[in-house]
Amino acid sequence: MTAKPTRPVPPVELSHAKPEHRGLTLSSALIHHPYQAPQGFESPQLPIYQASTVIFPSVRALRERDWRERDGYTYGLHGTPSTFTLESRLATLEGGEHCTLAPSGLSAIAHVNFALLSKGDEVLLPSNAYGPSLALARGELKNFGITSDVYDPLDVSSLGAKFNERTRLVWLEAAGSVTMEFPDLTALSALCHEHGVLCALDNTWGAGLAFNPFECGVDVSVHALTKYPSGGGDVLMGSIVTRDSVLALQIKLSHMRLGTGVGAHDVAAILKGLPSLALRYAAQDHSARLVAAHLQSHESVVQLLHPAFEGSPGHEHWRAHCVNPAHPQGQAAGIFSVVFRPEIEHARVDAFCEALALFKLGYSWGGPMSLVVPYEVSSIRSTQPSHVRPGHLVRFCIGLEEPQALIADVQSALLAVDHFA
Ligand SMILES: *Cc1c(COP(=O)(O)O)cnc(C)c1O
Repeated sequence: MTAKPTRPVPPVELSHAKPEHRGLTLSSALIHHPYQAPQGFESPQLPIYQASTVIFPSVRALRERDWRERDGYTYGLHGTPSTFTLESRLATLEGGEHCTLAPSGLSAIAHVNFALLSKGDEVLLPSNAYGPSLALARGELKNFGITSDVYDPLDVSSLGAKFNERTRLVWLEAAGSVTMEFPDLTALSALCHEHGVLCALDNTWGAGLAFNPFECGVDVSVHALTKYPSGGGDVLMGSIVTRDSVLALQIKLSHMRLGTGVGAHDVAAILKGLPSLALRYAAQDHSARLVAAHLQSHESVVQLLHPAFEGSPGHEHWRAHCVNPAHPQGQAAGIFSVVFRPEIEHARVDAFCEALALFKLGYSWGGPMSLVVPYEVSSIRSTQPSHVRPGHLVRFCIGLEEPQALIADVQSALLAVDHFA
């Protein structure tokens, strides 16, 4: 059998090719094509740099390049111009020095635990922590011989009472998930340092805007970029920011060993969201306060849980951390919960959520679309906190719709459901 003659391919002159690679056939010529687009292309968005493989100019460079250094590239997992750029901007956003990206907010939380904890250690979490973070502590961390306990985030002495010789890490969250308590971050992190224990903050709510996590004394700040930095409800990503280079290296090493990289297109989507982050955060905060005030005045509502409102749990700590001369009204995420009168049964609260037209049923927040989720406090807390009134709770996340339209939607849903009128 004679081989099919190959199509003659004009020899390709590759200036940088070894002599035996000259005169290439088609696939080789396409892979090693000599045309180079001119340098100097500039546009508002960074190009999307995609790579698993990174090409080295010499064996010496391959051997000598250190993946931990930011002066070159070794492998897609360890950094590209896209990830280095996003990491650097996020470190600036949070007031830190070093940043590592993770494929989701939850994976960023997991990374901090895996990097900083070993078998026999104990980690403390606030009782109002992001639910999956508590589930991770009670699942994988427990299976790996790391114990966990919870403290009351509104009571600094409750954290003090939980320290023992095995305590290595304390998580903080401000405001807490669903019940929105704002803790005294500064006092909690000072207490951690008195005990020589690291503290990590889930800073998704503050988004690097409402307060500076490092000025409050935290060692590590984790941010679910999925929320405000993305702003689109379409990307999952997380970041881990520190000021301390030793901690940063510990996190980087763990990240490298776990191998959880992020996609270049997702990085580009977050980079695109960052310039409008502060504007969207402020707009969603403004709308949320208008919708929250409307709901608070409704006869069916017994409690509003929004840290910027007087009487909300931890309001004084929100005031101390989030009000400053540049923001005399303070800053807050566009998310809050309301508790309906206890006589209003479950099914009616569910019907109210379904009667909303602009608010969709869905988890997450910080995106363009307003969302609601009904919660049972009993399913997310081991005991009913004394500062949360009994009754069914609904969490509202405010999107970018006009606030008057959202208020009209809430009004008509309340009317549509018998008993709310
Ligand atoms: C959403 C969220 C996370 C997790 O982020 P994902 O990207 O969805 O994994 C963590 N913490 C808080 C407070 C969140 O709201």
